[in-house]
Amino acid sequence: IFLSLEGGEGVGKSTQLRRLAGALEARGIDVLVTREPGGSDGAEAIRSLLMQGDVARWSPHAETLLFAAARADHVERTIRPALGTGRWVLCDRYVDSTRAYQGAQGIDDAAILALHGFGAKGLLPDRTLLLDLPVADGTVRAIGRDAGVADRFAARGSNFHDAVRTTFHGIAAAEPERVRVIDATGTPETVTDRLIAALADLLP
Ligand code: C5P
Repeated sequence: IFLSLEGGEGVGKSTQLRRLAGALEARGIDVLVTREPGGSDGAEAIRSLLMQGDVARWSPHAETLLFAAARADHVERTIRPALGTGRWVLCDRYVDSTRAYQGAQGIDDAAILALHGFGAKGLLPDRTLLLDLPVADGTVRAIGRDAGVADRFAARGSNFHDAVRTTFHGIAAAEPERVRVIDATGTPETVTDRLIAALADLLP
């Protein structure tokens, strides 16, 4: 089973990734936790290209290609082999992040999907859990956590993050079976319970 966890800034994705992996392991599931961009040797090298410098270092088209290239390597070298041995894969961000973040920079969704078809042979998660918070709430959490995130907000502005959230919601509306919107308000325990409930039909 392939799961991805998605969401905007400050929704608690890292905390929930850890908690969800623990909850799955407690149910006897062998889970590989991985992340995007990255998760394989080549993809981690691309990650450092993407993460160095300011947010405007790469043109939106080049950035989209780098994410797609990283994902292609990650899928072929890490995700498919793990799925092939029967492990669960829990991925921190996947193609929906590219649709949301690079989409918010004006990259056409059909082009992103075409690249995904080529690079990752179209592999999609069995379920995508979208942690959802109003942008303003996420901003407060994210800025409290790390100055780098505050810089990214300053660089991109709240309109950008509104567009990211709108695109995530649009994907969820178009693919309600795969993508589940999870209310990210409340305690970490409550949010983890919601994530588990959204996986009920997949759990052994
Ligand atoms: O997952 P995390 O919140 O650490 O993501 C790091 C940053 O990478 C995000 O804040 C987002 O701005 C950026 N990102 C992006 N395009 C993607 C995935 C992530 O711009 N496809």
